[in-house]
Amino acid sequence: MSHLLERFLRYTKVHTTSDPDSPTKPSTARQWDLLRLLHTELEELQLPATCYEAGYLIAHIPATAGYEGAPSVAFLAHVDTSPEAPGEQVSPFLHPNYDGKPIQLKGSVLSPSDYPDLLRYVGHTLITSDGTTLLGADDKAGVAILMTLAEELQQRPELAHGPIALAFTTDEEVGRGLESFDESLLGAAYAYTIDGGLEGEFEYECFHAASAHITATGHNVHPGSAYHTMRHALQSLIKLDYRLGYESERPEVTEGREGFLHLCQMEGDVSSATASYIIRDHDRQLLKQRLERIREIAQEISSEPHAAPLTVEVSYQYRNMYDYIAPHPEVIEHAVAAYEAVGVKPIIQPIRGGTDGAVLSERGIPCPNIFTSGGNFHSIHEYCSLDAMERCLAIVTQLVRLYATSDEQA
Ligand SMILES: [Zn+2]
Repeated sequence: MSHLLERFLRYTKVHTTSDPDSPTKPSTARQWDLLRLLHTELEELQLPATCYEAGYLIAHIPATAGYEGAPSVAFLAHVDTSPEAPGEQVSPFLHPNYDGKPIQLKGSVLSPSDYPDLLRYVGHTLITSDGTTLLGADDKAGVAILMTLAEELQQRPELAHGPIALAFTTDEEVGRGLESFDESLLGAAYAYTIDGGLEGEFEYECFHAASAHITATGHNVHPGSAYHTMRHALQSLIKLDYRLGYESERPEVTEGREGFLHLCQMEGDVSSATASYIIRDHDRQLLKQRLERIREIAQEISSEPHAAPLTVEVSYQYRNMYDYIAPHPEVIEHAVAAYEAVGVKPIIQPIRGGTDGAVLSERGIPCPNIFTSGGNFHSIHEYCSLDAMERCLAIVTQLVRLYATSDEQA
């Protein structure tokens, strides 16, 4: 069995589900189980690594002799799995030379008629769970790829590379991946997350993200004597939602580069009510316009007779990483060259969400996202391909060599 496969299977069996409702960091103590296992394995490889209290592990692979001056590159993968599907007692199943037919799992069928992307992996060694849990390829495929990279660079000194940092993080799935993360510890000029989807995918654009929290302050009196007195908080919010007129701008009817406005929550009564929206767009102007529209309509409603006044609180969540990556085209060019050198056609697409790389890019280390081979993330129908994981490993290996040798030419 290949070291990559062996590692992947070992890591999937460690229960590392994160918890969106936990205030601690990491959100669940069990994520330490995998961080500690990785720490031990890195020590066995004689690589200096440190676990940090906030829930991350950083390892440094020193440059090969003569390449100490090459740009330093960091790679990141997260150890937690999504709380959206069970993640305990994962039993991975291998389907060698996958024939493209439906796969019977416990309680359901994984079928290309539901998931046509499965057909991209015909002939590959496909890996699924038994159908009762997620698989955890998101992002244990990334973790296994980086650990195998560490092993290969350590054991094959002929592979010239500059200084490399590997970071294993927690709580990515609950949006807190880089909370309390000190990026200066990476000592890196460039970074990549290994946390993408199907073979070939390469991402360096994501949404601009904001949220709007709206509070309505009503005035409650007996409905029988409410004439010209009552101000109905929840009605003001319902009016706002209606006047936004965003039927064609909702998540369920938008795709590709189309942004959206999404009502996450609305609740309350006559006296008080709240609503929360998230607003997403790859284009910052369009995001701002949507926020402006919310503010204008809220103001308009607030000034109408009998309306409960509304206050709008906007917070920006993350920005499109392309803003920060664009000034460093080499971070894209080297990756594309590495994909092509391995014979994988890059499928470049904007992410309809954010990544830890978006946060890292904003903090000054441009950080695109490389595929792991996984599909159907956060689901009991999650799958990945060993063949495609091997190609990801080859791409990352090629990438570190490119950074070392392009510096040589400069
Ligand atoms: Zn992930």
